[in-house]
Parts: sequence; structure tokens; C-alpha cells
Amino acid sequence: MDFNYTAEQEAWRSRVRQWLAANQPPALTSEERSNADDDFLWERLERWHVALYQGRWMGLNWPKEYGGQGATFVEQLILQQELARLELPFGCNILGVIMTGPAIMQWGTEAQKQRYLRPILSGEEIWCEGLSEPGAGSDLGAIQTRAVLQGDYFVVNGQKVWTTLAHRAHFCQLFVRTDPERPRGEGLSTLLVDMRSPGVTIRPLRQMTGSSEFNEIFFEDVRVPKENLLGPLNGGWQVLISTLMHERFGIGETLGGTEQALNQLVKLVKATALAAGAAAKDPEIRHALARFAIETAAKRYSGFRSLTRRLKGLPPGPEASIAKLASSELLQRMLRWAGRLGGLNLLLERGSPLAPENDWARRLLGAEMLTIAGGTSAVQRNMIGERILGLPKG
Ligand SMILES: Cc1cc2nc3c(=O)[nH]c(=O)nc-3n(C[C@H](O)[C@H](O)[C@H](O)COP(=O)(O)OP(=O)(O)OC[C@H]3O[C@@H](n4cnc5c(N)ncnc54)[C@H](O)[C@@H]3O)c2cc1C
Repeated sequence: MDFNYTAEQEAWRSRVRQWLAANQPPALTSEERSNADDDFLWERLERWHVALYQGRWMGLNWPKEYGGQGATFVEQLILQQELARLELPFGCNILGVIMTGPAIMQWGTEAQKQRYLRPILSGEEIWCEGLSEPGAGSDLGAIQTRAVLQGDYFVVNGQKVWTTLAHRAHFCQLFVRTDPERPRGEGLSTLLVDMRSPGVTIRPLRQMTGSSEFNEIFFEDVRVPKENLLGPLNGGWQVLISTLMHERFGIGETLGGTEQALNQLVKLVKATALAAGAAAKDPEIRHALARFAIETAAKRYSGFRSLTRRLKGLPPGPEASIAKLASSELLQRMLRWAGRLGGLNLLLERGSPLAPENDWARRLLGAEMLTIAGGTSAVQRNMIGERILGLPKG
């Protein structure tokens, strides 16, 4: 197998680099960094999303008729690598771009594709994912939010929780129970719900990082037009599984952040002085960094399995769980290691005069969620055991 990029792909990388060098947003000033609240950072992210969209970098691998560029996943991957190299985010509509958009392309009617796909890419319509409930997280077959078809509308009642971006979102890809008589997954359906509908109440949840990025959503007699059903009635389980595969593919392959973290660790080591001298000269520290670099490379090469599948035109398969598991656990270990190396100084909160760059304190606290969001590590291991290794169900 040849792991090298072709001359055309390297030329593409140069194009990406040139554009990013000319258009990347200016770094935050130290005053901005100290005072940055969620709204300030969100508006900055929105502006960056629009710049990427106008530069035609959003949805590179989406078909042209839906606003994409018709490129392959390799071009998309190169863009992600270059963004990570400069520590730049992917825009403000991540869930829409990596989950709902691909789910609509796979399951949607032509009218749904025409209506929803382009505004996902442009960032005009932000999406959230309504899967988890107080009694259904890893076990999504237990979803209880109920939708009853009455004439031209589904009437929705129930509650979702941990819904990332619900407070910013215009739409929710909502998983509901449409037939309570059928067993578990068989009675589920997927709806595209306008978050401004009467009866939708959003309550932000505050995380230990201090930010409120996810929410509870309450649905009380919310009317959803029946043409907003995505995929077959009571066929929501297949939509759900494929949406989660797209999420894991997105987290593991394109948004994993391990390369970015590795670069930041190298910078941190170079800037750290120990009692015995420069951290960068310490053999144990160099050894640890080398291990992280090797694991990052191994994760990247293993991810080529998922990529190969996508290049063959197939939807993501269970191997996306390997990438999700590997990148989230590796990133968590890297951030914890940074915490030990940097010591107390690294833990100073944004706003403190001596706080280091890169918001380490929040990232360290935020790292705990990496092995929960998008399906816990235990669930990924089950998936790998059962669907890849063919082991009996646990
Ligand atoms: C930052 C963040 C963002 C999120 N964003 C969203 C979102 O946008 N939309 C959304 O719908 N959800 C979202 N979630 C929810 C997330 O998907 C769930 O938290 C996750 O799937 C786990 O479900 P749970 O919290 O109900 O835990 P549970 O399912 O109750 O699990 C509790 C523990 O039991 C273990 N466990 C459960 N079942 C098994 C099993 N079969 N085998 C072995 N161990 C098992 C789990 O690994 C875990 O350790 C988000 C979560 C986080 C942390």
C-alpha cells in the first residue's frame, strides 16, 4: 500500500496552505483572550465559518448540486490537516456538516436535500443532534420522546439532554418513538425539527469548564410537518446508526485534534524549564513526546481504513469506532500529560494575567468529555468486538 500523497494532492495542499496563510483570522490579543466569553468566541467562529464557505472550502467532498465541491475525502482530509497545523477550527456548524448533512444526503428526499443542505454548509442554519435522553444514552433503543402522526403533522412530546449547540441551533435532527408497540429500535423515526417551533424549550447546562455548550430540550405538543420525516416511518434506527457512523468518522478522521494537540505539546515542552534545565532536553519527556507522535501516526494510518471505504463510495462502517476510540483516548492522555508537565501555571484560568496560551485549564477539564461524547469508550469497544472482530455479544 502506498501511503504517500500524489503530486496532484500535494499541489492541492499548497493551494490550501496559501489560502489559509492569506485568510486565517488574526490570533486573539491577550486582552481578548482574557475577556472572551462564549458569545464572543461563537461570533468569531461564525465569521471564520463564513470565510471558509466563501473560499469554497466547506463541503469539499459534497456533491456540487448541494453546494459542495465534488472533491474526494483525501482533499477534505488534507484541508483538515492544514487547519489542524495552524490550530484553526472547522467552522461553527460541525454537527450539521459531519452528521446531519451526510444523513440527509443518504436518507433525504430530493426536496429535503434542496432545502437543507446548502444552508448547512453556509452556516446560515445551525444544527443540533437530539439523540440522548435522561433514560437513553448508550442505549438509544430506549428513546422515549414520542411523536404521533395527526393529519399533516407529527406532534412531539418528551425530553432530550446533553444536546450540543441546541441554544444556537435553528434545526434539530431529532430521534423519536413513533410506534410504542414495536420492540425498541423498530419503532423509532427521525424528524427534522425547526427549533423555533412553539413548544420547544431549551435549558443550557453549565459544564465544569465554565461554558454552556450543551442543553436540555423539552418538547411540549410541538407540531412538525410530516414532510420533515427523514427516511422511512419507523425506520429511524437505520438513520440513527448511519448518523452515528458519520459522527465517529468525523470525530476520528477529520476533527480528532490529536495532531493539533501534538504540535501544542511540542511548543509547551520547548517553553518549559525544569529545575534541572530545559524540558526539551529531558530524556523521559522526549521519550513521552516520541510515544505520542508514534501513536498519532498510528492513528492516522489506521484511519486510512475508513478513508479507503469512503473513497470506494461506501458509507462509514464500524471501523469508524476504532478512529473515535483511538483519537479520544489518545487526546485525553496527551492533555493530562500536559497538565502534569505544565504544573500549576497551566491550570490558571483564562483571564488570569499569567494564564498560558491555548486555554489549557479549560481543555484539561473539557478532556473528560472526549470519551463520553459521540458514544463512550466502552460502547466503541463493544462495537469493535462485535462488528469487526465477530465476538459474541457481551
Ligand atoms: C460533551 C458532550 C456532548 C454531547 N452532545 C450530545 C448531542 O449533541 N446530542 C446527543 O444526543 N447526545 C449528546 N451527548 C450525550 C452522549 O452521547 C452520551 O452522554 C453518551 O452516549 C453516554 O450516554 P449516557 O450519558 O446516558 O451514559 P450511560 O449510557 O448511562 O452510560 C453510563 C456508563 O455505563 C457504561 N455503559 C453503558 N452501556 C454499556 C454497555 N452496553 N457496555 C459497557 N458499558 C456500558 C458507559 O460506558 C458509561 O461508563 C453529549 C455528551 C457529552 C459529554
